[in-house]
Amino acid sequence: MSTSTGWGLIGASTIARQHMLAAIRAQAGHEVVSVASSNADRARAFAAEFGIASAVDSVDALLADPAVKVVYISTTNELHRQQVLAAARAGKHVLCEKPLALTLDDALAMVKACRDAGVVMATNHHLRNAATHRKMRELIQSGVIGRPLFARVFHAVYLPPNLQGWRLDKPQAGGGVILDITVHDVDTLRFLLGAEPVEAVGMGQSAYLAQQGLEDGVMAVLRFDNGVLAQLHDAFTVKHAGTGIEIHGDAGSLIGRDVMTQRPIGEVVLRNESGEHAVPVHHENLYARGVAAFCAAMQGTGAPAATAEDGVRSLAAALAVADACHRGTLVRLPALSIQG
Ligand code: NDP
Repeated sequence: MSTSTGWGLIGASTIARQHMLAAIRAQAGHEVVSVASSNADRARAFAAEFGIASAVDSVDALLADPAVKVVYISTTNELHRQQVLAAARAGKHVLCEKPLALTLDDALAMVKACRDAGVVMATNHHLRNAATHRKMRELIQSGVIGRPLFARVFHAVYLPPNLQGWRLDKPQAGGGVILDITVHDVDTLRFLLGAEPVEAVGMGQSAYLAQQGLEDGVMAVLRFDNGVLAQLHDAFTVKHAGTGIEIHGDAGSLIGRDVMTQRPIGEVVLRNESGEHAVPVHHENLYARGVAAFCAAMQGTGAPAATAEDGVRSLAAALAVADACHRGTLVRLPALSIQG
């Protein structure tokens, strides 16, 4: 009998295929033992392509497998809630994709279910694991830029053709740029600033990809509880803007270029009264690092990079931006008391 910790993949998804399978396999003592898809052929094809022992066509079947100790959930967003609740009932640890859910109540119910079941739950906000963002956080905490005052996030990209599906035409699946990209921006800002967003305004755009009332672009401003104002620009429709994040303080500015990405790339620059200084960073795979932290949390020797609570708080801000866009008004975020 294997002594490895067995993972079940809930969702034969692109992110599992392109990043997470390898990230899990990079962990010593962990193996992927089963994959569940709503479509039996897709499950079998995925398992065959990647050498996974078991392929099943239901979440219940995957959760009934005693070899599965932990699940990675990467289905479309409306399914996360019921799948996390089922996993918690089955006593499996849960690494869930963002956005955790479509509503705050659902996300809170997921956190509670995992807490009550005594399983670890975490959110796959990968950007916290980037060497660039970790270095920027460290420098901000050490006071290098003085008091942070403003942040700007540049995350307007072109949605790859192979992903131009439910994100563009299924509001019921949690499509749209805000739940896809803005939620990541907010999580990254919360990580960098060590502060929580309290107010949001925004305007959405449906330019030429999104349908059914969904946005494929957004500009938003968030106020954080430390006073920082953050400007966000997210899109599925822009091919050549490049990505970045900037934090401006009263003593200096940190500029991250090409850092809002899944890849271990990008650079950090510190600009202050003595000029512009390149900040060395040692890149590593974002997803593998995130899974490693999650594995440590399961073993009781560490904390996830983004906890379940982080997933809830970042979702709350994304929902506030969406609400602000739809209602054309400033939205105050709810006060949250979450015990993960
Ligand atoms: P996909 O569209 O690739 O997969 C979502 C679901 O679509 C799958 O679970 C699968 O259902 C179904 N599906 C897959 N292939 C096909 C097909 N050929 N025909 C019909 N249906 C298919 O989504 P993503 O991988 O892009 O996103 C999944 C989740 O991961 C989302 O929650 C998203 O927000 C998140 N995500 C997170 C990222 C991160 O960096 N943290 C990056 C990208 C996505 P079934 O499982 O039933 O087979």
